[in-house]
Amino acid sequence: MNITGKTKIIGIYGNPIEHSLSPLMHNKAFQALNLDYAYIPFNIKKENLKDAINSIRTLGLVGLNITIPHKEAVITSLDEVSNEARLIGAVNTIVNDNGKLIGYNTDGAGFYQSLIKLTGEIPKNKKIFIIGTGGASRAVAFQLALEEAGKLILTNRNYQKGYQLAEELANNTKSNIEMVEFKSSKIEDIIPKVDIIINTTPIGMYPNVNDDPIIAPELISPNTIVCDLIYNPYKTLLLRKAEDKGCKVVPGIGMLLYQGVLGFEKWTGVKAPVEIMEKVLIDFLFNKLPR
Ligand code: NAP
Repeated sequence: MNITGKTKIIGIYGNPIEHSLSPLMHNKAFQALNLDYAYIPFNIKKENLKDAINSIRTLGLVGLNITIPHKEAVITSLDEVSNEARLIGAVNTIVNDNGKLIGYNTDGAGFYQSLIKLTGEIPKNKKIFIIGTGGASRAVAFQLALEEAGKLILTNRNYQKGYQLAEELANNTKSNIEMVEFKSSKIEDIIPKVDIIINTTPIGMYPNVNDDPIIAPELISPNTIVCDLIYNPYKTLLLRKAEDKGCKVVPGIGMLLYQGVLGFEKWTGVKAPVEIMEKVLIDFLFNKLPR
């Protein structure tokens, strides 16, 4: 990479930031397409976020990713926020449009894209069971509701927190929303009857790869699509068990990939080299991450 005065700079703000795979993915993509862009990670403390956002204009950054813990707090510092990002209450992508900072959320859309690409199925009118209602779940649930999923059934260990998301979804989208008690007997009836199951909790994530899956895989029907947002391991025990039953599965790396693909295309206006971005992520996952 040859950085000059003409190079367009994209950044990512987070804390911690050293584990982010986005610099690897985007720099490889810029290189592959011979684009004069560079993607640079910045470790930004909470108390410096406002200044750091203002410096996007000062430094002339073309765009930015925002990651934990700034995705929610950043909203008040932006000039405009997309409908999805406003509903989700979080921004992960910023475009600097001649000094106007526009915030987007490509996490939910990234998940949605990966689901379609990997399964060939469209979630519209489907019955979907979402386990966990944290930050990633919010993005996924709102995107699915906006894409007219037939019904979203949510469950969460902390019922009150889950209920709050269910209410927001019901009040702001046309989807049919239901909230059920975590690990209640009702869930045993729900699992075999839904079209799509999504684990948004960290259960099964490295190093706890052999922990019991969040739901009993025996209950899953073979024609159900099973998704896990976890990307290390590449396929969680839940996904492997679901595959054994004949289910189509969607590993979390797809969401990571496509949130980046969507950001790349917003910043550059160029079609992202998806296969190259995917390969660099998978190579890293299998060869560099502890597993
Ligand atoms: P978060 O905001 O902390 O939410 C975590 C969720 O998991 C909450 O609903 C929490 O329930 C639940 N949970 C945590 N531990 C649990 C346990 N032992 N038993 C049952 N439920 C439990 O985290 P997040 O940012 O949404 O991330 C969640 C997962 O998604 C992580 O594995 C993360 O790596 C993955 N993720 C993947 C991508 C991607 O691009 N593939 C992007 C973002 C996140 P309570 O409310 O009861 O605490």
